[in-house]
Amino acid sequence: MATTRTGNTPVTFPTASGGTVASTVPVGAVHAPGSPLDRGASLVEGAVVLDDTVAPNAPWSAVVRRGHVLTIVDVGGNQSADCLLYDADDPEERYSVPDTLAWQGNAYVRTGTVLRSNEGRALMTVVANEIDRQDTIGGACGKESNTLRYGHHVMFQHGCRENFLAEAGRRGLGVRDLVSNLNWFMNVPVEADGALGIVDGMSAPGRRVAVRADRDVLVLVSNCPQMNNPCNDFNPTPLRMLVVDPAAVAGGTRSAAAAGTLGGTA
Ligand SMILES: [Zn+2]
Repeated sequence: MATTRTGNTPVTFPTASGGTVASTVPVGAVHAPGSPLDRGASLVEGAVVLDDTVAPNAPWSAVVRRGHVLTIVDVGGNQSADCLLYDADDPEERYSVPDTLAWQGNAYVRTGTVLRSNEGRALMTVVANEIDRQDTIGGACGKESNTLRYGHHVMFQHGCRENFLAEAGRRGLGVRDLVSNLNWFMNVPVEADGALGIVDGMSAPGRRVAVRADRDVLVLVSNCPQMNNPCNDFNPTPLRMLVVDPAAVAGGTRSAAAAGTLGGTA
């Protein structure tokens, strides 16, 4: 099922207390005309269970079932996909930057990185990655930090934090559930003196990362609206979110094929 967020109609969603809140986050923003776009394909073979396009500046979320693989496509290149993970059945257990980095003894996220929870357990594992390194130190932009860093005139621009809050609200979560995040496709080098850089990206149209769910995981993404530094190449572009079930292929099951029961003379 494919869905695309478009239009400027305010989105309303229920709150945990039984009320309703209208999101102020605009959706359906448009990237620069003529931007090269590559929608790519899943990095892992399997039956497609979800194929969404996230408009520039908009939030997104989905539950990825255990064993399924989410491929995130950087459709326009150099587009930061800020991301949070929660155990779908117990959101109190959620993504943890320090657990993830301490267990692997490396500051960067690459193929093989196990994305761990605040309990130290595996939520998801990076199974394929088409840029050198992915970031999980740079954090998420937001109205308050933008105002502090770039001036009071940017206070009405929404950031990833506002996207996270809007999407979390649709899932019964709130501000106390927002923690440090992943930044897919964002270039945040750790410099020789230990300082972090937020510099021009190293991704490109159609570059992908694939993560396998090690249990049922709620994935929250903000298609980053930041326009005050180069993290989105000053041209926010769409993201494609593809979830496949590797255990199933169109027209049959992989296990049957692997076992030779689909054999014959084809
Ligand atoms: Zn952002």
